[in-house]
Amino acid sequence: MLTHPSRVTAFPEAPLQRVDLPWLSQAGVQLAILRLDQIDPELSGNKWFKLAHHLEAARDAGARGLISLGGPHSNHLHALAAAGKRFGLATVGLLRGTMQTTPTTEDLQGFGMQLHWLGYGGYRERHRPGFFEPWLERYPDYYCVPEGGGGLSGALGCAPLVPYVQKQLAALGWSDYDGWWLAAGTGTTLAGLVIGERGQGGHPAHGALAGPVEHGVAQEVGKLLGEAGIANEGYRLIDASRGGFGRFDAELAHFLADVELATGLPLEPVYTAKAMMALRLCVQGDYFVRGSRIIFVHTGGLRGRRAAQASLDTLLR
Ligand SMILES: *Cc1c(COP(=O)(O)O)cnc(C)c1O
Repeated sequence: MLTHPSRVTAFPEAPLQRVDLPWLSQAGVQLAILRLDQIDPELSGNKWFKLAHHLEAARDAGARGLISLGGPHSNHLHALAAAGKRFGLATVGLLRGTMQTTPTTEDLQGFGMQLHWLGYGGYRERHRPGFFEPWLERYPDYYCVPEGGGGLSGALGCAPLVPYVQKQLAALGWSDYDGWWLAAGTGTTLAGLVIGERGQGGHPAHGALAGPVEHGVAQEVGKLLGEAGIANEGYRLIDASRGGFGRFDAELAHFLADVELATGLPLEPVYTAKAMMALRLCVQGDYFVRGSRIIFVHTGGLRGRRAAQASLDTLLR
């Protein structure tokens, strides 16, 4: 049972900060970063928001624990394990591939998560109806969270980011903003923003795809918006994957290092640096009119960067 049920729904504070870079000022585009990476040292980024409604549902069901799935570098499992530990719920992680140790799996075990390695074939079965049944027999009264914390619950957990940013605009001296920019994996967070924008001006949201277009993010976002009962409008997907999910090259490594040096803003190579790089391309291509004010959602993931650091260092040499 949850020990601190009221804290599950408390909205964590995330600062909204102006950032300037030469390619932004040259195009007359203003950027503010919503620092979801700063909400909590363990439970950071968009994954907290995607989990909020799932945690409430687990609490309402009187669940003893949580079961979910992910890869050996999963930011979702990291947040889920941290949330379980904090709120007094046991956690079970079903992992893709064969047993291995990564900074993430070490943290998962440190949070007390029970890990099961499904192999690749076993992991592919996850969409089969009844997939969770044997796990629920083994772990009765556990609540199953879909992969990545997705689904409509995940998206609805992200919708409050819209009023939260709007509350902070005045402190930046902005009367309004012209759009959102964020990394998209499944598109759940993006769908949450589109849902949150309903009746709030419908500012367009731009999702920079961390994976290939074939991953079906457009279909997923369309499905989520359909379930939320709103038309498929107010968003755009941009290919930002640079050759594949989790792949990085020297240009990306240098870009990430340059942004950090110039602004102090930490990024990681899988999602946020690729999203920022795609933004630069659009800004340099005059996609935004001069005077545009863009909100970039820093979706976190910095803990996952540890596994990538050695490759980044090599690329920077
Ligand atoms: C999971 C993740 C995303 C993708 O979020 P979706 O809701 O699946 O689109 C983006 N950035 C970071 C850092 C993440 O960990």
